Amino acid sequence: MSSSKQARFFESVQRNFDRAAVHTGLPQGLLEQIKACNAVYQMAFPVRVGDGYEVIEAYRVQHSHHRAPTKGGIRFSHLVDQDEVMALAALMTYKCAIVDVPFGGAKGGVKISPRKYSAEELERITRRYTVELVRKNFIGPSIDVPAPDYGTGEREMAWILDTYQQLNRGEIDSTGCVTGKPVSQNGIRGRTEATGRGVFYGLREFCDQAEEMKALGLSPGIAGKTMVVQGLGNVGTYTSTISIVEGGVKVIAISEIDGTIVDENGINIEKLLQYKAETGGIVGFEGTTKLENRDDWIGIDCDILVPAALESQIHKDNAHKVKAKIIGEAANGPITADAEEVLLQKGVVVIPDMYLNAGGVTVSYFEWLKNLSHMRFGRMEKRFNQNTYNNIISKVEELTGKTIDARDRAMIARGAEEVDLVRSGLEETMVNSFYQIQDTFKKHPKIKDYRTAAFVVALDKVASDYTALGVFP
Ligand code: NAD
Repeated sequence: MSSSKQARFFESVQRNFDRAAVHTGLPQGLLEQIKACNAVYQMAFPVRVGDGYEVIEAYRVQHSHHRAPTKGGIRFSHLVDQDEVMALAALMTYKCAIVDVPFGGAKGGVKISPRKYSAEELERITRRYTVELVRKNFIGPSIDVPAPDYGTGEREMAWILDTYQQLNRGEIDSTGCVTGKPVSQNGIRGRTEATGRGVFYGLREFCDQAEEMKALGLSPGIAGKTMVVQGLGNVGTYTSTISIVEGGVKVIAISEIDGTIVDENGINIEKLLQYKAETGGIVGFEGTTKLENRDDWIGIDCDILVPAALESQIHKDNAHKVKAKIIGEAANGPITADAEEVLLQKGVVVIPDMYLNAGGVTVSYFEWLKNLSHMRFGRMEKRFNQNTYNNIISKVEELTGKTIDARDRAMIARGAEEVDLVRSGLEETMVNSFYQIQDTFKKHPKIKDYRTAAFVVALDKVASDYTALGVFP
């Protein structure tokens, strides 16, 4: 990356903001309030590593307090700095507004390379980071609720939960202090896959637009489209598997740290994941060839390019290489503002991060609601629905004199499990939000891209909160 971290991530987000702001007609002062990061907490804390101590640099940024709690993942990466966390926190504000999740935006970052530490050391770092957040009142179910991001997962979220609970005995809603927890620790079924599943729903919806697809010279429908994915972590894995299994997509290349592999016939992601678990990398996987230069994944000829690793991967020096017609931003900020201008000129459609990867925060919202209600979704109504459907089937059988076989009966009379409800809520959210963005796009002839349209949707919603609430004192 570098090149002054690709012209600073936060500046890139602010440039996109400004490009959209002109279409909103909102007063300048209000726009400035929305744009600013409301609270930035930088910390440096010691952790015992091996025989010595290490001072760890970390951050938590709350971008917007227009709604509480604030919400956003925690990233563990050696590239973390204040600029990056501020940019990611800002994106969370807009993302939550777009998908109607009633939170302000936040983000956390710990400047470490997780691969360099043992599980025990990572636990100490995570717990100490949580203690710092508790001390400064930067965490709590009604204050600020972290979640997983790059380099973290449910293991770290469980450590955060336990640390928080140790320090807040008797707080009845304490499980809502963090989301993305293991299901056994008050997490929710369907959270781990949520971001990738949301990416799939968003891309599927866009590909279903006959007019837009015609303009790109593509046939409508996601089935049969070719896809290239950068990053086979949480988001990249679920985006590719769900796109293949539920969408009929062909994933023809995967790029990871150790290289980019290609198979025009389509890569079997499940087998690739097994191979990666055994060997630690993806290069050498059967039936694939390795590109000489890892970063040439950008120029592979395909229908949909999915950056799902880190920000600023497509920048002004490589954007001209893109051959894909559609870019689905599964990662946060994978395209710099400079690169976006090149892509727009080339006629590439970018489905923006603040919409496309919002599935994670959407299901985190469901998890938080579950934690506050202290009950699994579906527990009250599943059997009731099942009994009602069975009664309807029996009545139909009685009236028609025909019998529905046991398999069909079981299928029709099935009551929804928690995971069914979560997926249904996620699909509803992604589809709904897509049409809100598209509506804005179509209503404003001067808006030329989906990112600007998505920003306008977000800014209008956040502005309406500020306008209604006023400023205190
Ligand atoms: P992750 O740590 O699970 O996976 C990231 C993967 O990218 C890793 O496998 C890593 O090896 C790979 N990678 C890193 N640098 C690379 C490079 N230069 N080339 C190729 N591969 C590279 O992280 P994640 O949770 O999947 O997050 C990925 C992106 O999605 C981030 O931008 C994150 O902010 C965003 N995101 C994540 C979530 C979530 O729920 N996890 C939600 C919204 C957005």
